[in-house]
Amino acid sequence: MHPVSPPAAALKPPRILPPDLPVLVLGTRRAVWLSADGEIDTLDFRAAARRARDEPPLLTHGRAAARRLDLRDLRAFDALELFAFAAPGQFCLPTPRGLMTSLGLGRAGSLEDQAMGLADAVPILLDRIAQAATPILAELAQLMMAGDWVWGPSVLAALGAAPLPARPRRLSGLDIWSRLPEWEEAGPVDPPSHYPVDPADARIRLADLVQGRSRHGGDGPQSAEARPQQADYASAVSAAFAPKGAPNEPNLVLAEAGTGVGKTLGYLAPASLWAERNGGPVWVSTFTRNLQTQIDGELDRLYPDAKQKALKVVLRKGRENYLCLLNFEEAAQTVLGNPAHAIGLGLMARWAMATKDGALIGGDFPGWLVDIIGRAQSLGLADRRGECIYSGCPHYSRCFIEHSIRRARRADIVVANHALVLIQAAMGGIEDATVPTRYVFDEGHHLFEAADSAFSAQLSALSTAELRRWILGAEGGGGRARGMRRRYEDLVVGDEAAADDLQAILVSAAVLPGDGWQHRLAEGEPRHPIEKFLALVRQQVLARAQRPEANYDLETDRQPAIDGLADAAIEADQALAGLEAPMQRLVKFLARRLDTEADELDTALRTRIEAAIRSLERRAVTVLGAWRTMLKDMPHATPDTMVDWLSISRQEGREVDVGLHRHWIDPTLPFAKAVVEPAHGVVVTSATLTDGTGDAGVDWHAAEARTGAIHLAVPAIRARVPSPFDYAAQTRCLVVTDVRKDDLDQVAAAYRELFLASAGGGLGLFTAISRLKAVRERILAPLDDAGIELLSQHVDPVDVGTLIDIFRAEEDACLLGTDAVRDGVDVPGRSLRLIVFDRVPWPRPDILHKARRQDYGSRGYDDMLTRLKLRQAFGRLIRRSGDQGVFVLLDPMMPSRLYGAFPEGVDIRRVGLKEAVEETKLFLRPED
Ligand code: SF4
Repeated sequence: MHPVSPPAAALKPPRILPPDLPVLVLGTRRAVWLSADGEIDTLDFRAAARRARDEPPLLTHGRAAARRLDLRDLRAFDALELFAFAAPGQFCLPTPRGLMTSLGLGRAGSLEDQAMGLADAVPILLDRIAQAATPILAELAQLMMAGDWVWGPSVLAALGAAPLPARPRRLSGLDIWSRLPEWEEAGPVDPPSHYPVDPADARIRLADLVQGRSRHGGDGPQSAEARPQQADYASAVSAAFAPKGAPNEPNLVLAEAGTGVGKTLGYLAPASLWAERNGGPVWVSTFTRNLQTQIDGELDRLYPDAKQKALKVVLRKGRENYLCLLNFEEAAQTVLGNPAHAIGLGLMARWAMATKDGALIGGDFPGWLVDIIGRAQSLGLADRRGECIYSGCPHYSRCFIEHSIRRARRADIVVANHALVLIQAAMGGIEDATVPTRYVFDEGHHLFEAADSAFSAQLSALSTAELRRWILGAEGGGGRARGMRRRYEDLVVGDEAAADDLQAILVSAAVLPGDGWQHRLAEGEPRHPIEKFLALVRQQVLARAQRPEANYDLETDRQPAIDGLADAAIEADQALAGLEAPMQRLVKFLARRLDTEADELDTALRTRIEAAIRSLERRAVTVLGAWRTMLKDMPHATPDTMVDWLSISRQEGREVDVGLHRHWIDPTLPFAKAVVEPAHGVVVTSATLTDGTGDAGVDWHAAEARTGAIHLAVPAIRARVPSPFDYAAQTRCLVVTDVRKDDLDQVAAAYRELFLASAGGGLGLFTAISRLKAVRERILAPLDDAGIELLSQHVDPVDVGTLIDIFRAEEDACLLGTDAVRDGVDVPGRSLRLIVFDRVPWPRPDILHKARRQDYGSRGYDDMLTRLKLRQAFGRLIRRSGDQGVFVLLDPMMPSRLYGAFPEGVDIRRVGLKEAVEETKLFLRPED
């Protein structure tokens, strides 16, 4: 049953048209109800909830509305569902204003106008559906109608179709797997040549891009601003595209470019020249999806022709980000037994036929659709656990993931993310044996944490249970997960030893934790050696962690171990050895097949066997190998380059994982060896690479340490291009000295007064979620009274990206957030004119941080990390030459040695709150 839709039969007549529907729009504390007769009532939430229960209204985002009205089950006509059907793959913010903007209905100010606009949107959407009418679309709508889709009668009427007379017997309309275009396998790709890029040529290419002159036919988008710093930057990063002179001596350029330099076009200019001249791709890697999308937008300048761009540019993500057609087909089969499933899957089918690349995250898939149709029918359809059967899959030749991997081999520019690039390197190429030779790492200040994540290991209940699921599939009939038997059985047919090994793996997987491990660990009844080991890990954490009764994650040092833990580790290691041996034998068998049957295997089967080898090796060698090493080391000291610890993870008071962790003290060491050294040229760039101590040598050393440059045989080329912005004139930086940061009433009052002084456009950054929530609670009403909308990460039931999009679109809204907001916000113009940071963002003290600080040198390390965070936050303020902004830090204990975090010329003033409020008002609203 669809969560927010009423059964059609319970509603009004078959043709449900806008005049028949009341409309509900929610503000911060009040609601507007527009009746079918055109009367407008302003209601409090309780009264609005009563009405909505009696008469299902038209609204946007039913699930969020239900939460705000405190209703468990809100029956409603969600206009976003209709939008997803009428305009699949098109951008729309999940608000009445967002919908109106997408449909060209202008921008409504008041809630009343938004209600009218929402009513106007429905006939437009129905008209679009009528315009797009095809027999397939009508069949899809019939299936959805059979599932009691609330919009079914209206949509069928628009399509000129009638409901099905009986339960559906076919999946027509949902069968996207037979209608998507097929791609064809191509021959191997030649290796790239090694011609350099002359800096002068890079400048000329840049000038063309900036002025919208494309080399590839047609005019590019509107001219961008010409910036001399940008040309210097393009020229400097060209050095990374020189030929490599000696093995393990890549051309590494560390390029710091102040905000506003325009570094994206700056590096795309030489990168595109190199790709054209040498016939190989340049991989541009980012940390945030937001930047990945922005770069894709900038590439329109290089390839204004969409068809050509589709050949030359590929956005690559991990396979868990894409819709798997086999998963979709298996989900679609359930519709015959349960037609209600047709609603969500029907909306997914509409998107799948319209999408550019099939990416469920960070592409043209609307994040709000996950809230509306649920995870199982959206993100849950991705290949999240490596269960792909490759060419054994009937949809292989239409598969989004496989298509994107193949396109990337022939593209000029591949836009990827740090996680994918580093995991590929750590695992020795999980997706593809083709290794890039040229990289640009944008948002290079995040490389350290990306490397930390990619090159770490954890032997935990969740990670071992995940391996069990990968091997055995969904046990007990739950879920669709395909186990190894289904994936590999046909590959071992005819070879008894290999079939025995496959069987041995399936049997040995029983040593891994299965369902119910939490209960067994908590009750002291562990099964099998791995659970026994984890039970003792849990015991040690609970015995040693500070405040084990608190609801937080807990951790403790691995050594000295409690009695029995070292012995349990030996037993666990032996159990894993029994799993690892047949997996490795199976890898060898498959590798032998590739060799001995070289002249018989067709390309598809060869590719599938290669993928199976990579997938098995990843588990047998990389994952099991790391776990076994950690277990063998249990009785001994941790290696000098590593940090080990034990942990219990908790969510809302519940234990969700228990495990042993191992991280590199310096994860840039494996990064440098696995990624940078084998490459020919690498650019690492960011607005914040260096530290801000004021000593250039120390500052560059920090950049080199955080990016792994210090581990290379040849020094990195350093380049620094200052921001063109006049920060002294465009910003104010205030440290408030009379607000006690541990008194949340005082902190909240400061936020309130500052947000009122700026009349919105404020970004509140917090060092802890609990502080954010406490402040939000206190300032919601006074801001609402002043007409300022308050958006909050961790509270509002929409994803961070959507929240930021709403904040960008609403000039006078305020947004509260933590780290992900600080790193992901790119809001030029007036929508972001004030940043308030709740306190100095010192690093969180934990075991890993302690080891790194000792390795780096105590105080300097904390200072460096904190300056980098402050620099990042300050950098959000001014994105364009006309922007103005105020940065406020509510922390009297801010040490002056951190002032280097702010750009040169910025006047940092320590003031009381009263003065900060006056200054904010005067600077941002001088006319008032
Ligand atoms: S090839 Fe793999 S990922 Fe693609 S549709 Fe088939 S099973 Fe899914």
